[in-house]
Amino acid sequence: MNDWKVPLYRPETGPAEAEAVAEVLRSNWLSTGPVTQDFEARYAETLGVHGAVAVSNGTAALHLAVLALGIGPGDEVIMPSLSFVSAAATVTLAGATPVFADITSGDDLCLDPADAARRITPRTKAIVTMHYGGHAADLTALAELARAHGIPLIEDSAHAPATRTPHGVLGTVGDIGCYSFFATKNLATGEGGMVVARDPGLLARIRALRSHALTVSAQDRHRGGPSVYDVDGFGLNYRPTEISSALGRVQLAGLPAAQERRQAVVRHYREHLADLPGITVPFAGRPVQESAHHLFAVLLPDGTNRAEIQERLKGAGIQTGVHYPPSHLFTAYRERFGTGRGDLPVTERVTDAQLSLPLYAGMDADDAALVVEAVRQAWPAP
Ligand SMILES: *Cc1c(COP(=O)(O)O)cnc(C)c1O
Repeated sequence: MNDWKVPLYRPETGPAEAEAVAEVLRSNWLSTGPVTQDFEARYAETLGVHGAVAVSNGTAALHLAVLALGIGPGDEVIMPSLSFVSAAATVTLAGATPVFADITSGDDLCLDPADAARRITPRTKAIVTMHYGGHAADLTALAELARAHGIPLIEDSAHAPATRTPHGVLGTVGDIGCYSFFATKNLATGEGGMVVARDPGLLARIRALRSHALTVSAQDRHRGGPSVYDVDGFGLNYRPTEISSALGRVQLAGLPAAQERRQAVVRHYREHLADLPGITVPFAGRPVQESAHHLFAVLLPDGTNRAEIQERLKGAGIQTGVHYPPSHLFTAYRERFGTGRGDLPVTERVTDAQLSLPLYAGMDADDAALVVEAVRQAWPAP
């Protein structure tokens, strides 16, 4: 591990998390059980929805969405290329084709509803949108597009747990919402995730597929229920552990305060970086409280050698990242689906210029000032 002065992310855990984990260990029930059920209930209540299914990670959440919707060979699913590769991989593994669409602009890095609309065919079975960095995609337009074609909208809300926006709570506007609680995410349990669905029947199917579509769970058997089960579908084991759910409960309770600390860092960045020559700060015009602020992205001036800027920042002890190398340019996707450079002009321009600065709830004003100072020093001369 590098000795960063300011890392890109850092999960925040304290005595409450340690005690919650210790309590699970003392309970002698480590796999999915009552703590998970309670975490699901609290998560659903926080979002204002009828239910939620906790899973082992965010990729599992997306895979279950794809499976529960019956997406398979011959089907197409429209999604942004500027995202983590999970959605594309799960759609591909289901035998379907990911159809990559462009993002809206250098200011709005989420799926462009107009480009998504252009890519709809009779084979389109779903649209996946992603709330880049915790900022809402144009859910109003995307939900309308999906409804007009009678297809479901899946929200990859990995960057946005319990986030209220003018479109609604992220993950609850479309048909299915998928969340990740990976160690770098705003709500971090190491590995973990959650699924919500508008239709209770669909959520029940997701719950069944999470555990091999068994008609009787291990917990039921432990409680003295029937010891023989039937299987009424083709599922997987995507159950979370009680340890992860215990961490999730504590993190969920602390989320509002953690979000406020992220917002303070974002205000500082927005204020002190705006005048850099040629900088673009995506989403900067949106009110700070309307995003989960998972990432703080900037776009370098066109033609900048990003690796060189990153090296300079590394020299100052500041870790940076790139979100994301676009899925349509990965070798596996080029080879399987014939995608390539030139397919998505806005995505390709943004991905070459994008740089993520450190952002986590434990950052204080000194950390933010250190990053600002280093970025100003490293910034390319006009
Ligand atoms: C993290 C992430 C995922 C995958 O979540 P895991 O919990 O790591 O499996 C999916 N989509 C996006 C946009 C992510 O950031």
